[in-house]
Amino acid sequence: MASRFDVIVIGAGPAGYVAAIRCTQLGLRTACVDQWLNDKNHPSLGGTCLNVGCIPSKALLESSEIYEQAQKIFSQHGVVAKGIELDLTAMMARKEKIIGDLTQGIASLFKANGVKQVNGRGKLLPNKQVEISKPGDKQTQLIEADHIILAPGSSPADLAAAPLEVERIVDSSEALAFNSVPERLGIIGAGVIGLELGSVWRRLGSEVILLEAQKQFLPITDTQIAREAQKLFGAQGLDIHLDTRVVACKPDRDKVTINYQDQSGDHQETVDKLVLAIGRCPNTVDLAAEEVSLVLDGWGLIHVDDFCCTSIPGVYAIGDAVRGPMLAHKGSEEGIMVAERIAGRESVVNYDTIPSVIYTEPEIAWVGKTEQALKAEGIDFRSGSFPFAASGRARSAGHTDGFVKILADSETDRILGVHMIGRHTSELISQAVIAMEFGASSEDIAMIMFAHPTLTEVFHEAAMAVNGNAIHIAKKRKKSS
Ligand code: FAD
Ligand code: NAD
Repeated sequence: MASRFDVIVIGAGPAGYVAAIRCTQLGLRTACVDQWLNDKNHPSLGGTCLNVGCIPSKALLESSEIYEQAQKIFSQHGVVAKGIELDLTAMMARKEKIIGDLTQGIASLFKANGVKQVNGRGKLLPNKQVEISKPGDKQTQLIEADHIILAPGSSPADLAAAPLEVERIVDSSEALAFNSVPERLGIIGAGVIGLELGSVWRRLGSEVILLEAQKQFLPITDTQIAREAQKLFGAQGLDIHLDTRVVACKPDRDKVTINYQDQSGDHQETVDKLVLAIGRCPNTVDLAAEEVSLVLDGWGLIHVDDFCCTSIPGVYAIGDAVRGPMLAHKGSEEGIMVAERIAGRESVVNYDTIPSVIYTEPEIAWVGKTEQALKAEGIDFRSGSFPFAASGRARSAGHTDGFVKILADSETDRILGVHMIGRHTSELISQAVIAMEFGASSEDIAMIMFAHPTLTEVFHEAAMAVNGNAIHIAKKRKKSS
């Protein structure tokens, strides 16, 4: 007979494992099925985020930044460091240790909370049964529950013109584990992964060329921020080509030849490694038996409503496999909402206040509407900006690039969007999220006291600038209100 649970979660990424833990906190008997195996063939919880995503990329971003600082910045502080060398093996080992600790941490949390960890691939069958299979094992196991949460996540999208090839044409997972620094690194896609991994390898010594299909750089961000980012990343040495079409990629023993087109014609580039970073696709192939009739949207995303209910009563879907940005925290919040709704609570996710961050240097962070979106929607707004160059703390730290921009409704002054480019904006953006969650106006923020000297004062001054009242910037003042 099939083992029975209150809830079965398929997928133990940040969406699934958080949902499973919250379910058990709420007294629901919960199993979480996950198929991820690490390179030692051991189950490794945490999905893309912990194994080949958020965490390893941030570990390498941190390490590579320290390496670059030691070479270029220490001397500005009067710190003389001679004979600085890169030990890539040690850098990668540090990253692996962090992954190991965190993935094992999820296993411990499962134990502590009483989540039943089931290793293997789960397939949804009719009547909320889940079939578990394991590679090389002919026998399958059947478990069932009153509620099923699908959290299968996503995988890198492929490109016919650049078929993956073990050594030379790789996806983001391999690009987090190169065993030497490529002299020339090509990246297809100048989106979030392209910029973050491009930054890592540029800092470690690669010449990085990014080939982006869209005409505009980072169109998801506020145009002013994108312009500043393009300027700064270009100055750092990222060679970004927009409006390109890769037509063919040919690997040979040592190199990859990329043929691409842009407005000026046909071009050829030769690189040592090529990374494909053109977006991700939901892992929904063969997730559910045909008889289940799970409705998928375009691109294979599982169709859900605002509360993550699928077309099948009692079956929910969360995280990268459903609409909305493919972000770990968005998936986790959906996991908590679904767990609480199963337990009878009225929880919701506010999709209007999802923060986004690109962990380059400087970091880019935003929440809410961009200026171009507000204009397109015909919403009247006022804008206030303040540069990091005018912040005492930013100057002391030697990180003066970028600015904070706040967009507020012209009539109500309610904050509609906050856009940041600068040092540690991944941390600063949470203040804007909190402000927007509480329906704050720019004046509310302007009236709050911020500690001096901190980078948060840049957010404070930007809020004051919405009404022309910023103190530490000598520019033509708008009429004071
Ligand atoms: P996943 O994390 O993909 O987890 C899904 C899990 O389900 C996996 O373990 C998978 O093996 C398993 N699974 C799938 N199908 C089945 C099945 N049928 N049976 C059993 N198990 C199954 N996001 C951020 O918010 N911040 C970042 O800094 C960030 N950096 C990133 C860097 C990189 C290089 C990448 C690739 C992604 C990054 N992301 C980041 C995105 C983030 O990793 C994803 O949004 C997040 O992991 C999605 O969570 P999820 O739980 O929906 O899916
Ligand atoms: P992305 O959507 O951020 O960027 C992909 C880029 O590739 C886009 O700019 C797109 O125009 C371009 N592109 C698509 N097809 C192309 C082609 N044929 N030739 C050239 N360019 C092409 O996706 P990504 O960078 O692959 O990241 C995947 C997901 O992972 C994203 O949704 C992102 O949210 C998430 N992620 C988040 C973080 C973070 O939060 N810091 C970091 C990494 C990844």
